[in-house]
Amino acid sequence: MEIRHNWTKAEIQSIYDTPLLELIHQASIVHRQYHNPNEVQVSTLLSIKTGGCVEDCSYCGQAARYHTDIKVQRLLPLETVLGTAQKAKEAGSSRFCMAAAWREVRDNRDFDKVLDMVKGVNEMGLEVCCTLGMLTEEQAKRLQEAGLYAYNHNLDTSEDHYDKIISTRTFSNRINTIDNVRKAGITVCSGGIIGLGENDTDRISMLHTLATMEKHPESVPINALVRVKGTPMEEMPKVETWDMIRMIATARIVMPTTMVRLSAGRIEMSEYEQAMCFMAGANSMFSGDNETLLVTPNPSLSADQMLLKNLGLRPMLSKKEVEV
Ligand code: SF4
Repeated sequence: MEIRHNWTKAEIQSIYDTPLLELIHQASIVHRQYHNPNEVQVSTLLSIKTGGCVEDCSYCGQAARYHTDIKVQRLLPLETVLGTAQKAKEAGSSRFCMAAAWREVRDNRDFDKVLDMVKGVNEMGLEVCCTLGMLTEEQAKRLQEAGLYAYNHNLDTSEDHYDKIISTRTFSNRINTIDNVRKAGITVCSGGIIGLGENDTDRISMLHTLATMEKHPESVPINALVRVKGTPMEEMPKVETWDMIRMIATARIVMPTTMVRLSAGRIEMSEYEQAMCFMAGANSMFSGDNETLLVTPNPSLSADQMLLKNLGLRPMLSKKEVEV
């Protein structure tokens, strides 16, 4: 399979509509061509500033306007963040992601503190990733200079469905930040969430946007909606694992070299279901000892270690460890 950036929506639709077992088989062939099928990248995600966000993402319990059980937490101290990163590294993580519930980065003391966190985590040899909201090109450069390896900025959903999910920013705002990240020489982590009331056409459209970028995102998280009480999405139906598998396999085929990340929603999946996601080409997951993914539940570290053992999967080294 060659790397292509000129996919049409019809081609992606046709891959997505392939009978499931055949789709998994095709994705698995592509996966083996570009990746070691016995390795999974284990990433740890830490919320460094939680809740109180001014945005209105309808799936998110951190939006200040929704009445959820999530406790607002100001920016964590540097030592707490570095201590958590060290523990994550010792538990097998090769990537450490720091998330702040901000609409956008401001050039203030909190940003300076985040730059120090990036420097500190980078010095541990971990791939350091941040998700901090919208960024200017200048801010992206400062993060890159501090040692940032990746920036997460999900598309969330399709361009057409976007305003049904979020009204406080636009799809083009998202693309703009991703462009700024690219210009600064930081790798891009961008994917989406399924289960937001979108249809298959929206899913195809989101994958099309990612797969036709000049450079594919190095990381594409595929999330299943985790229904948070108090948000507009709390009553949405549970996402079928078949749909996750279909999304993962399609992403794997259209973006062969990308790390496809099985992200939110694992808590509602059995080991068998997760195994099928890995067979379909997922090669990354979030794990950590706090059993949460930002503010939603995630499997325990011991459950994940057992999962990897049962499937014969090894945690991948970080790119930096490989370079050493
Ligand atoms: S997803 Fe991010 S930007 Fe949206 S409300 Fe939650 S924290 Fe804010």
